[in-house]
Amino acid sequence: MERFDIAIVGGGMAGASLAAAIGNKARVLVLEREEQPGYHSTGRSAAFWTESYGGPGVQPLTTASGPILQRLGMLRPRGALTIGTGAQVEAVEAFAARYAALGIDVRLLGRDAVAALVPGLRPSWTCGALEPSCSDIDVSGLHQHYLAVLRAYGTQVWCRAALEHAERAPEGWSLTLGDGRKAGCSVLVNAAGAWADTVARIAGVLPLGIAPLRRTVAQLRVAPAAPAGLPLVLDVAERFYFKPEAGRIWLSPHDETPSAPCDAAPEEVDVATAIARLETVVDWRVERIEHRWAGLRSFAPDRLPVYGFDVAEAGFFWFAGQGGFGIQTAPAAADLAARLLLGEGPGAVEPKPYDPARLVRMSEV
Ligand SMILES: Cc1cc2nc3c(=O)[nH]c(=O)nc-3n(C[C@H](O)[C@H](O)[C@H](O)COP(=O)(O)OP(=O)(O)OC[C@H]3O[C@@H](n4cnc5c(N)ncnc54)[C@H](O)[C@@H]3O)c2cc1C
Repeated sequence: MERFDIAIVGGGMAGASLAAAIGNKARVLVLEREEQPGYHSTGRSAAFWTESYGGPGVQPLTTASGPILQRLGMLRPRGALTIGTGAQVEAVEAFAARYAALGIDVRLLGRDAVAALVPGLRPSWTCGALEPSCSDIDVSGLHQHYLAVLRAYGTQVWCRAALEHAERAPEGWSLTLGDGRKAGCSVLVNAAGAWADTVARIAGVLPLGIAPLRRTVAQLRVAPAAPAGLPLVLDVAERFYFKPEAGRIWLSPHDETPSAPCDAAPEEVDVATAIARLETVVDWRVERIEHRWAGLRSFAPDRLPVYGFDVAEAGFFWFAGQGGFGIQTAPAAADLAARLLLGEGPGAVEPKPYDPARLVRMSEV
């Protein structure tokens, strides 16, 4: 049986970025159940980097990741515009104040400036908060970059490798995969996205209540065609967002439907809801739904990610709960987790807020 220092369950953005950050400082194995890493949430994102997205608790990870993503050539300027109606002026002002206080460049705009950025804007939308720093992320490029880096270090990625059993052994863990393969490791890392609680149960560790929520996106052909320079447009009440993509629109109803961990698929009703909401914002004609997809965004009960050793099981490390921000935070999150795993001092982001110890155990509720 081959032995490793660290086995990471999950080869999505979380597992790949962490394995790359550990590099050759430990002998690492990445286990991925699918034929290819990136099939689940990582392959379904809306591909933006926005410092306000995910809330103030996530912002330090997003902000610290920005310059790294920039250096890697993974960002393209987009701008984000959070809009409100006449009844939502205070909400937009509060949004701008909350993030300006964190040092983010957020500019309040009146109706004319918002309408200049969003052609065809309906009259009820009167205010907005512009974040010029928001960028599109090359998600696939970033994931492939991490996979190339980890392979260059000699890290093994086993695909079609579903972890089914994890038993405590004297020197760590004895792992058994669905096809009978076995491996041993000292530390088991849970980077299993929507399956984070499932993997905890496999290892006999108490789950933390990490809940997968479905999110839907539709690619639409609209008339007139959306300008390439359109910002990411978000509703201050979180009922939609849309952005241009190669002459089309990517539109989401901002849905958060509880789901079992699965290969998520879009529901017609969510696509219809998204379009109905878009029609309240702009006067564009929706000519065709070209493509639709859904993915799972997985959240801990307090909606902050969970990075660190389990409280009761010292050989089990959580790298989960990346919600809707697992791409934009990947570089800083991977650095933070690699430092914890390797016993190195803290880096750019303070790890304490993300420590699993903060969460009330489901069994204690
Ligand atoms: C519609 C949508 C839009 C989004 N938009 C953005 C965005 O604009 N910006 C942003 O930053 N984030 C966004 N996100 C969130 C982002 O996609 C996720 O946070 C991120 O992909 C999570 O990565 P992950 O590696 O944890 O999960 P995943 O990519 O799901 O990877 C987990 C992997 O673990 C594997 N696995 C599970 N159990 C086992 C097992 N027992 N054995 C072996 N392997 C196992 C799975 O097969 C899977 O490949 C979006 C998500 C969705 C769904």
